[in-house]
Amino acid sequence: LVQRAYNFNAGPSALPLAVLEKAQQELIDFRGTGMSIMELSHRSAAYEEVHNQAIALLKELLSIPEDYEVLFLQGGASLQFSMIPMNFLTPEQKAGYIMTGSWSEKAFSEAKLFGNPYHVASTKDSQYRGIPQFDELQYNATDAYVHLTSNNTIYGTQWKEFPQIGDIPLIADMSSDILSKPIDVSKFALIYAGAQKNLGPSGVTVVIIRKDMIEKANSSIPTMFKYSTHSKNNSLYNTPPTFGIYMLGEVLNWVKGIGGIYEISKRNEEKAKLIYNAIDQSHGFYSGHAELGSRSLMNITFRLKDEELEKKFLEEAKNEGFIGVNGHRSVGGCRASTYNAVPYETCKAFSDFMLQFQNKNE
Ligand code: PMP
Repeated sequence: LVQRAYNFNAGPSALPLAVLEKAQQELIDFRGTGMSIMELSHRSAAYEEVHNQAIALLKELLSIPEDYEVLFLQGGASLQFSMIPMNFLTPEQKAGYIMTGSWSEKAFSEAKLFGNPYHVASTKDSQYRGIPQFDELQYNATDAYVHLTSNNTIYGTQWKEFPQIGDIPLIADMSSDILSKPIDVSKFALIYAGAQKNLGPSGVTVVIIRKDMIEKANSSIPTMFKYSTHSKNNSLYNTPPTFGIYMLGEVLNWVKGIGGIYEISKRNEEKAKLIYNAIDQSHGFYSGHAELGSRSLMNITFRLKDEELEKKFLEEAKNEGFIGVNGHRSVGGCRASTYNAVPYETCKAFSDFMLQFQNKNE
């Protein structure tokens, strides 16, 4: 029996064991083809079936309406920071950015290269501990779009509900919480996510785009940066990351097999609760970074009373086999990422460890 690590990595992160085992089993001879999925032509019927099934499954699991397309792109979520303004922003136009952390800042910087982005709201003054209230959002009806980050991987905050902003296209970076809970896709003009947290390995970026957005995008940009190029070619304009898309499809199959998006969402709530309870019942030994109403169910961020104790905590956690518990290098502290594929038992073991460490060091 393999000993699987207690993996709390922020991304790339844990994948379901069942998916890894299936991939292992199919690796050398993929479904009777006599070769691995990586060796198949991306124009072959065997690959196309995998590709189309992954698209269909994502549509099914997220209840994506008919007037949307699912694209599989490359370049990570980071390339979407640029592709979005390249396609939808002109030099005269404004675009609103809701600033809730480092990834919003990165997205905002790219938009400056193409037009006039501005801050719709920002929680930077409170160390990005929260998500703005809807009544703090100051946008204009003429904005090309409004952009938000649904889950802030570094600070550990998450939108619980999304604003209605009339006819302005709402765009969301859902890299770190896509497929973790049900969402109303129809509120968004475009959703994007790097796959390497909840969806599969790195190398694939999922874009869910409303069809009218594809039509109204700028046409004078390079071919590979146009959403229309990928849409017209079913994300097969050039060679896609075939192995990553296969894995993504298998992860989706796994989610479907365990009961779909409501079941995964319920499990994520239970897992996060274990660790938040360890924080809340510690009488201040651990302090959560996020405001209560903005707590992420995917990235749980917390601190200990001083750097020395924190160092000791992280060292002991490492010795006990908990991987990836250090906070992001830009903010320090501790972070447990409890994505879809992180088992309940792993979270339980960690919350037990937190309690024991507190008892020994209080
Ligand atoms: N957005 C968010 C919310 C992220 O967490 C990350 C990566 N951790 C990115 C964007 C950047 O993604 P990528 O590495 O796929 O470019």
